[in-house]
Amino acid sequence: MGKRILMAGGAGFLGSHLVDRLLRRNELELLVVVDDFWTGTRENLKHIDDRRMHVVDCSVQEFATHETFDEIIHFASPASPPWYMSDPARTIKANVGGALNLINLIRKGGRISFASTSEVYGDPMITPQPESYRGVVDCTGPRSSYDESKRCTESLLFEMRRTRDLDVRIVRLFNVYGPRTRIDDGRAVSNFIGQALSDGILTVYGDGRQTRSWGYVDDIIDALERYFWLDETSYCGPLNIGNDREIAVIDVAHFIASLVPGSQIKFLPPVPQDPTNRRPDLTLARQVLPGWAAKVEYEEGVRRTFDWFKSKMTLMERIPEP
Ligand code: UDP
Repeated sequence: MGKRILMAGGAGFLGSHLVDRLLRRNELELLVVVDDFWTGTRENLKHIDDRRMHVVDCSVQEFATHETFDEIIHFASPASPPWYMSDPARTIKANVGGALNLINLIRKGGRISFASTSEVYGDPMITPQPESYRGVVDCTGPRSSYDESKRCTESLLFEMRRTRDLDVRIVRLFNVYGPRTRIDDGRAVSNFIGQALSDGILTVYGDGRQTRSWGYVDDIIDALERYFWLDETSYCGPLNIGNDREIAVIDVAHFIASLVPGSQIKFLPPVPQDPTNRRPDLTLARQVLPGWAAKVEYEEGVRRTFDWFKSKMTLMERIPEP
């Protein structure tokens, strides 16, 4: 008997990259992708022609079936601040409501893997942040729908492991960028690239000295694939995944501006409660995933993302208005 897998959020930026890896697995019998196409796109799955995959247009919290699955992967959530802030209730429903629904669809002894976030550390007081750090999140702040719903879902899954012996894998993802980010995603790398390729004005919020650790999508997916498919581990998470090279937002803007001569940087007011720094402690990741390391240098990853955006935006310009 082959594996039956449900991938929630499989049309999204990270979800669709993971779907590509899932379909390379010979033992896969059935892959059900559940996505409501809020932030995910059909375009992200367009290249796939595989009869094992079925796409269901439905929210993760409402999805219903009589089937049960060997593995469930829950990636159904917006991840960009402007998107999750635009509909906080929907963000909470997707994460918490989605997990509450999905845990009933796992066969006995099955596994659920979940994409949590470095946002659980809030604006961290220590650097780098190890998994043991409990974080500083404002539960009434503007980022709380995302931060707290990720925290709550972590709690739910760990408690299901304790009380129902569920096999769980939880990763805390630091900033990820790369091809298949929405053009209108709004996060720093994609925004700067889109701006450099359109009006040439890159918007930096605040003074740009806030830092993030930027992980190229292929490196991150390599880590996820290893961790979610690792049978031998008894370590259920949380596991930090990212690239531990920390770079200030202003330096990201300067680098991307340098790719298109004539680009300018415009400073806008700071975003309320924007974390000042973020850097993963990857000690545990290196132990749990021997041989894994982020390999794509930031400059190379940005160039690849830039080329992808350029091809997409050129294509969009060529499509005539209806
Ligand atoms: N940022 C910026 N200009 C933009 C988009 C983002 O200066 O056009 C900043 C943002 O304020 C934050 C950093 O870049 O300090 C990373 O933002 P992003 O939305 O990519 O991720 P997150 O805040 O969730 O880490």
